[in-house]
Formats: sequence, C-alpha cells, structure tokens
Amino acid sequence: MAFDLTLSRDHELIRDSVRAFAEEVIRPRAAEIDRTREFPVDNWRRCAEMNLTGMMVPEEHGGAGLDGVSYSIAIEEISRACATTGVILSVNNSLFCMPLLRYGSDAQKKTYLVPHARGEKIGAYCLTEAGCGSDAAALQTRAVRKGDRYLLTGNKVFVTSGEAAHTFLVYATIDPALKHKGICAFLVERGFPGVGLGKPERKMGITASGSVEVVLQGAEVPAANLLGAEGDGFKIAMATLDGGRIGIASQALGIGRAALEEAIAYSRDRQAFGQPIASFQAIQWKLADMATEIDAARLLTWRAAWLKDRGGRVSLYTSMAKLYASEACMRAAKEAMQIHGGYGYINDYTVERLFRDARITEIYEGTSEIQRLVIAKEILKGAEG
Ligand SMILES: Cc1cc2nc3c(=O)[nH]c(=O)nc-3n(C[C@H](O)[C@H](O)[C@H](O)COP(=O)(O)OP(=O)(O)OC[C@H]3O[C@@H](n4cnc5c(N)ncnc54)[C@H](O)[C@@H]3O)c2cc1C
Repeated sequence: MAFDLTLSRDHELIRDSVRAFAEEVIRPRAAEIDRTREFPVDNWRRCAEMNLTGMMVPEEHGGAGLDGVSYSIAIEEISRACATTGVILSVNNSLFCMPLLRYGSDAQKKTYLVPHARGEKIGAYCLTEAGCGSDAAALQTRAVRKGDRYLLTGNKVFVTSGEAAHTFLVYATIDPALKHKGICAFLVERGFPGVGLGKPERKMGITASGSVEVVLQGAEVPAANLLGAEGDGFKIAMATLDGGRIGIASQALGIGRAALEEAIAYSRDRQAFGQPIASFQAIQWKLADMATEIDAARLLTWRAAWLKDRGGRVSLYTSMAKLYASEACMRAAKEAMQIHGGYGYINDYTVERLFRDARITEIYEGTSEIQRLVIAKEILKGAEG
C-alpha cells in the first residue's frame, strides 16, 4: 500500500478531540506542574478516560486499538499543551505496553498489559544505569535464578514516571561477560521485596515527569515475570526504542509547534520602531524556517509510524524522525525565545518553559549522536530508499 500523506477522517477526529481535550484539561495546568514538579496523577487519570494510555494496544487487551499515526498525532497534541504529560504517556504506551503486547505471555498480558493499557496502572522503563546509557549492552544489573524466582540487584537511573509507577520493565543480565546476549527483561512490581526508590531528580525541563533512581537489592521477581526468553532482553530493548523514538519525535513536534505558535502571536503583538516585529523580514524568516522544519519533522514522523505499523525493520526511519524532530524542536524553541527578546527569558512566559522542555528530546531514547550512528549504519549497509 502506498504511503498516503493525507489524514483519514478517523485521524482528523482523533486530532480534533485530543486537541480540544489538551486545550481544556492539560494546558491550563502545565505551568503549575512545571513549577511544583509534582507528578501529574490527575492528568494521567483524565488521559486514561480519553483512552490515551494504551493507544496501540488492541481493545481485547484494554487498549484503544489505534494505529501508530493516531498515536503520533495524540502525543503531539498533548505535548503541545504539556511536554511532561506527553512523555509520561509516551513511556507507558511505547516503552511499556508495546513490548508486553509483542513479547508477553497470555498470563503477563492479562495481569499487566490490561491494567496498564487502561491506565489503571502506570508503567516505567528501566534500561539506563549510572555507568551506561548509550552503551546499553554494558549494563551491570544482575539477575540470578533461585528456584522459581530471579533475584535482581543493581540501580537504574533517570526512570521516567518512576515516582508513581506501579510496574517497571527492568533490564538485567544473567552474566555480564555474555554482553547483549545475557540481557533479560523482567516485569517488576513496585511492591516486590527488594524494590526501592532513590531520590527524585531535579531537572531543567519536563520537571514533573517523576524521574527517579530505582534501587534493586536482591529484588524478588517470579520467573513467570521474565518477558520473552532468557537472553531476549537486548532485542526487546532495541525493538522497543524504535517505537519509543516515534513517541519522542511526536513530543518534539508538539513542543516545537507550541514554540512557533507563541512566536507568531508575540511577533504580531510586539511593537518596535513603530511597527509589529512580525513586519521585519528577519523575524518572518525565523518563523518561515520554524514552520518548514516542523512540517518536515511531522512528515518524517508519520512515515516512520506508518511503516512501523506495517512491520519489518524501521530503525532507519524512526531514527531519522527522532533526530530531525528533536533538533527542529530545539531550533524552534531557541528562535521563539529570541523573538520574545528579554521576555522570553522570564519564567512567566511560556517560551521559557518550552525552551527547557525541548532540550531533553535530543538526549533521551537515544542521543542525537546515537541516532546519527544508527542512520549511518543503516545507509552504509544499503537500507535507504
Ligand atoms: C529526563 C530524562 C529521562 C530519562 N528517562 C529514561 C527512562 O525512563 N528509562 C531509561 O532507561 N533511561 C532514561 N533516560 C536515560 C537516557 O536515555 C540516557 O541519558 C541517554 O540514553 C544517554 O545516556 P547517558 O546519559 O548515559 O550518556 P552517555 O551514553 O554517557 O553519552 C554521553 C555523550 O557521549 C555521546 N556518545 C556515547 N556513545 C557515543 C558513540 N558511540 N558515538 C558518538 N557519541 C557517543 C552521547 O551522545 C553523549 O553526547 C532518561 C534521561 C533523562 C535525562
């Protein structure tokens, strides 16, 4: 089937309904959440009522049964209003529910996928450790089989939603010498013996996303909570990040679009030298570049989502989308601040928050350097076109 650049009627309905919801419910609280840094449980509940917590999970497993383009549209609309809420949704949807849907047993789907897709529970993803982020195969958290359980020992850092999460998807190794072949994925409940939380991280942006260290001290995990087989963990982590990158590209689109909209409104209003600054060509060119780059990023992101829905390897396309959307978002946020002059630097102005929120999109779920590495590897082996 050819890639269609027009949205279907269903996509338009999703865009319009999520936009209206985000305007009415999510946006009014965004500045307060940013200031208080409190995990937005209310936003989560309202998003669950809107079926936004397991968007691509089939209805029989508690989800909305929608496609990847719908998901991208929804994350863009939510992130345009509040980037913190956008990433919390993205993690539960892409990084928690999707690997569970693909690799989970029937019992795991019943116990974990259904309540997380419905939004009754919040999911988190625990790959990164203090000693390794980009080089995930070097992780050191150990998993030792003892009868019908595994004992997990190690620390996971920067865990988004960690403060509020009910279940963690934890990656640990049965033997570090096996490198990526020793890595396993486990479903770890917050209440399992030996699971604890470190101190919450204070961050530059997405301040209320509940980032925390997850401390595993001989955490007792039933063997039935191993996702896939022993040694499947690295494959699961990488396949999962392909989908996650579509979520973060969509988050970047939302932040970038919000920055553009703020810049347009301000430039029409602000007077200098007796005229609105929007009448200066220097300002118009900034706006033109921002709008063009955001549109290009959206097309890359939708293409990646569309291809992912059809199966097969999509790393090239998800990495291109994430790389370009995050960098376009950062440029848009920087120029929006510039267009606001000194006011853009003041907390009261939305662009100040957008600038802080934008920066993380170039870092998590694979830094820009790692995306370039993936893209180069794929095109050098002839996967382009
Ligand atoms: C707010 C926030 C939320 C996060 N949420 C989660 C989460 O929910 N779950 C989770 O598991 N992780 C999460 N992370 C971790 C995030 O994914 C990592 O921080 C990121 O992947 C980079 O890893 P690192 O910080 O260890 O940097 P490093 O891997 O140490 O990289 C440092 C620098 O070296 C560069 N670099 C590394 N290797 C190469 C290379 N081969 N070639 C060129 N350059 C290279 C990197 O691009 C970077 O610029 C989060 C991080 C933050 C800040």
